[in-house]
Amino acid sequence: MRSFVALAALGALFISTLAIGETPRTALPAPVEGHEVTEIGPGYYTFRYKGLRNVFLITRSGVIVTDPIEPEAAAVLRAEIRKLTPLPVKYVVYSHQHWDHVRGGKIFAAEGATFVSHRNCLAHFKDLPEPEIVMPTRTFAGDRYVLRLGERKLELRWLGINHGDCLVVMTPDHVNVPFIVDLGTAGGMPLPFIADYSLHNWVRSLRELEGWSFEQYVGGHGIALAPKSRLTERREYLEALMTETRRELDAGTPLAQIPDVVAERLRERFAHLRGFSGIVRDNVRRTITYYGMGW
Ligand SMILES: [Zn+2]
Repeated sequence: MRSFVALAALGALFISTLAIGETPRTALPAPVEGHEVTEIGPGYYTFRYKGLRNVFLITRSGVIVTDPIEPEAAAVLRAEIRKLTPLPVKYVVYSHQHWDHVRGGKIFAAEGATFVSHRNCLAHFKDLPEPEIVMPTRTFAGDRYVLRLGERKLELRWLGINHGDCLVVMTPDHVNVPFIVDLGTAGGMPLPFIADYSLHNWVRSLRELEGWSFEQYVGGHGIALAPKSRLTERREYLEALMTETRRELDAGTPLAQIPDVVAERLRERFAHLRGFSGIVRDNVRRTITYYGMGW
């Protein structure tokens, strides 16, 4: 019965949030401007455009680009790659299907690149077409695929459902620094409504990544090289968020009060995370829907 009541009240929770047009109590992280290229290892680079980031790999036989971000970013990236090599971009690999990361591929399709993703991404692109997105023509099912070009290999690992159902983690064979998009942005909070995340699978995937032997990773947002401990930090935050929200639901705390109660309980351990005060209550509201609706 309690869960039924909770379900009935969920709508009210969100409607009240919308009705008062709640603005974050502290501003979200300020937008980052400009772009930069950072070398991670021999032929292995990360490109940042405003708040988004990818990696690219220069080989003897051409270039592998990952997430093309958006058209303007991709044009800048194309020019930056041209400063480093005259070789063509042969592959574009999508980390997952979200539009903020993968809208800029046309410039690389025009020079003949093959587009690669996990097979599960196709259904999303077909279901909700976005004209700027180039449809992948090489897909793989299962949990591992190795893309070879020249003297290099790029290993793609699918960890199951976590952030959507087609996210892959990529690691070149010669530099042990994986590209891990949207599972653990270094030093910051998750987005307010952490949409398209399966919370327990997110935790599971982070645990799996923590078991891998690397020291640093490149994220899809944020600093060029993040220490692996940031993944642990994200997992510990998520586990605390889930545990404390569940505790208040079980205790019968009125839904409208739970965000404030949980925010206070998490503050001591996690207030140092960028954007904490403005985001934590929305994270709690999203977690209430997880336990109330399985969303
Ligand atoms: Zn995403």
